[in-house]
Amino acid sequence: MGKPRIFIVEDERRIARFLQIELEHEGYETATEENGLRAFERIAQEEYDLVLLDIMLPEMDGMTICRKVREISDIPIIMLTARDDVEDKVNGLDIGADDYMTKPFAIQELLARVRNALRKQRSGENGEGPEGEKLQVKDLIMYPSRYEVTVQGEEVQLTKKEYSLLEYLLRNKRNVLTRDQILQEVWGYDYTGDTNVVDVYIRYLRAKIDDHFNVKYIYTVRGVGYAIKE
Ligand code: CA
Repeated sequence: MGKPRIFIVEDERRIARFLQIELEHEGYETATEENGLRAFERIAQEEYDLVLLDIMLPEMDGMTICRKVREISDIPIIMLTARDDVEDKVNGLDIGADDYMTKPFAIQELLARVRNALRKQRSGENGEGPEGEKLQVKDLIMYPSRYEVTVQGEEVQLTKKEYSLLEYLLRNKRNVLTRDQILQEVWGYDYTGDTNVVDVYIRYLRAKIDDHFNVKYIYTVRGVGYAIKE
């Protein structure tokens, strides 16, 4: 398998260049396009593994591009929105974007989402089907394609980070994951902040899940890390 090819659709050259440098540093191949209409044509004609898609673009906006691409392809799309506008995000996901990020964003978070989207795409190609994939422990169920988590049938509202952490635990259920593994996978390999952040987010998850539903899902393995199990 060759390097994943990422198509950066962004009309602010400074941001496009920054993304290109960071992604190539991570080992991806990249191509860039600043015109919306040409971007759509290139997605239709060229081979990419993932699209980073700005919303405000000349000639065709990102929402329209996303909708039109979804008629012909299930390539992962991460929307980049300049506005912290909830409606835009909801619209973006409604029209088939896999994820979104609000500018300015932390590059590590973007890289984590790129990895995540590529991994989901691959697990879909392996026959699990992105629509039907379901991660489950007891009566806690995550539907990655819908970005949804339910416990005992009740939907749980998680922040993006809480969701990523829970997803990582579920994809490795029964395995004990060290803080370093969790940091690397969920926060990015060169995260330089406080390693306590893992413990803090485990606490947030437990408050919303274990404590709220009074069932134990997330286990602490003293001196090692955390595991989610039946
Ligand atoms: Ca723009």
